[in-house]
Amino acid sequence: MGRYTGPVCRLCRREGQKLFLKGARCYMAKCPIEQGTGAPGMHVGRRARKMSEYGTQLRQKQSLRRQYGMGELQFRRFFQEALRKEGITGELLLQQLEMRLDNIVYRLGIAPSRRAARQFVLHGHIEVNGRKAAIPSMIVNVGDVVAVKDNAKSKDAASRSVEAATGAQLPVWMQFDKTNLKAEVLAVPTREQIAPIVDEQAIVELYSR
Ligand code: SF4
Repeated sequence: MGRYTGPVCRLCRREGQKLFLKGARCYMAKCPIEQGTGAPGMHVGRRARKMSEYGTQLRQKQSLRRQYGMGELQFRRFFQEALRKEGITGELLLQQLEMRLDNIVYRLGIAPSRRAARQFVLHGHIEVNGRKAAIPSMIVNVGDVVAVKDNAKSKDAASRSVEAATGAQLPVWMQFDKTNLKAEVLAVPTREQIAPIVDEQAIVELYSR
């Protein structure tokens, strides 16, 4: 299954929680979740059925996958990679997702959403260690320097977004020079720093069935 390209608010409504896929709108009263809009296709008054264990695990996986805007195959590859490593699989999965280049661009406020960050990377506006990096799923390492390309078009778009994001908390595991739009990755974030809105253990259990 490829990446979903339809209306993103529908995905939050399906998961019954905010996945923060739309930038500023997600923090406004007009967010459909704030307005209490139910799951797509659910009729008002219809009673929700109790979800099975499998159903709960599936919803957790879909929530996390959708937050990071990934297709099922790519998400599963990330999971397999986490499984191969030594440590707590769920935590390793979260850490790998956070170290994606598009996520880092989003976390820095260079783009208002992960989806926008993906486009920003794809359009060649980002460099890693001084070299063009146009692959959104690229894994960034500790010590890498992520920067906006030094041209007016790239810098203007990034500056506008960073300015709009003023007030949002920057991750402590990165050092961001907002003037030069350049950041260094200082560490792999801990689970607490990522603060996921899913139960990652349920995802591990789902894939272990
Ligand atoms: Fe739409 Fe953002 Fe609200 Fe999700 S959180 S429903 S993407 S506005």
